[in-house]
Amino acid sequence: MSIRIDQKLCLSCGRCALVCPGGLIAQDEEKKAFVKYPKDCWGCAACLKECQSGAIRYFLGADLGGKGAYMYTRDEPDFLHWFIVCNGKSHKLTINKRESNKY
Ligand code: SF4
Ligand code: SF4
Repeated sequence: MSIRIDQKLCLSCGRCALVCPGGLIAQDEEKKAFVKYPKDCWGCAACLKECQSGAIRYFLGADLGGKGAYMYTRDEPDFLHWFIVCNGKSHKLTINKRESNKY
């Protein structure tokens, strides 16, 4: 698994850099995010969940989604939408953030 950041979609908010537990994400002079140490990423997905623009892609292992499969998110105040793209198809999973910790 690995992540990639599309700087064209990046809003320069810095949220991903703040939450990465390994301090692996930095921002350039335009505040666009980039992964400083890609090999050290352990795939916790914290940055992915924070990104409101869908700029971060989380590539799945071939055994999970097939070659080139990836996930990204869209964040709203009450909902987090997960998109899983594999074999040219996009699948959406929506989590109600207010309800997600109730059981
Ligand atoms: S959270 Fe997303 S939009 Fe914000 S700096 Fe990181 S990649 Fe860019
Ligand atoms: S997936 Fe986790 S470890 Fe990897 S860059 Fe994002 S926040 Fe950091």
